[in-house]
Amino acid sequence: MMPESLQLIIMGPPGSGKGTQSVALARDIGAEHISTGDLFRYHERSATPLGIQIQDFMKKGDLVPDDITIAMLKDKIASLADNVGYILDGFPRTLNQAISFDKMLTARDCRLDLVICIDVPGKQLEDRLLGRIVCMECSLVYGNHVDGEYTGYCNSCGGKLHKRVDDSDKEVIGYRLKKYEEFSFPIMDHYQEYGILHRIDGTGLVSEVTDAIKEVVATTFKGTLSFNY
Ligand code: ADP
Ligand code: ADP
Repeated sequence: MMPESLQLIIMGPPGSGKGTQSVALARDIGAEHISTGDLFRYHERSATPLGIQIQDFMKKGDLVPDDITIAMLKDKIASLADNVGYILDGFPRTLNQAISFDKMLTARDCRLDLVICIDVPGKQLEDRLLGRIVCMECSLVYGNHVDGEYTGYCNSCGGKLHKRVDDSDKEVIGYRLKKYEEFSFPIMDHYQEYGILHRIDGTGLVSEVTDAIKEVVATTFKGTLSFNY
């Protein structure tokens, strides 16, 4: 049986595998995958007022300002049915966002169960980001590790695959990695204090990293969690 409202955060530098792992885990534990990057890209693609407001930040690899990001996430969380479990991917990215999220949870009388940080060294991250291809429609992530022919269309939804603008320029990639270095430590300290931070080696095969994450999740929710294989 699933515990009610399983709330997880998957953090890690750009390219560490947050999206890849969140999709797999969300499917296996029946949780919703919420990626703030995907939400922003949806707004950009749809040219909503929010999309127009944030497009320059995204292109340059800058963090979108906290007030905009927090408001968007708050709306998303408010739209979820009660007791839905979810995996946050790419949020929080600043301590201020983490503290705001604590308050959101308190207001909803919910808890945060686990924060998993995927660790991968810088050089590998750059290579992965330069090789990353994503679906424009469903945001599914592809990359150099994917076997089989690259057809230009998504295996899952048939959408067109493309390279993200912010993955196309080494300088922008370097800038995003630097920003992560700058902002992530206070966030990790914050969750370390709550005793819910788990760091995972993200350098192995995708399946090995998935297994390591599942082990942490299963240990945390011993006896209350079953995976939908
Ligand atoms: P990556 O997969 O490379 O880690 P994301 O898809 O999570 O990147 O995010 C892409 C961009 O969206 C970021 O560079 C930033 O501009 C914006 N963004 C996403 N999440 C946040 C956030 N929590 N706070 C501020 N900006 C964000
Ligand atoms: P993030 O969401 O943290 O930015 P992604 O999940 O989008 O990272 O992965 C970034 C790139 O690295 C993608 O091309 C993906 O296919 C690839 N990737 C993810 N995990 C691994 C892994 N364990 N080994 C090799 N490549 C990986």
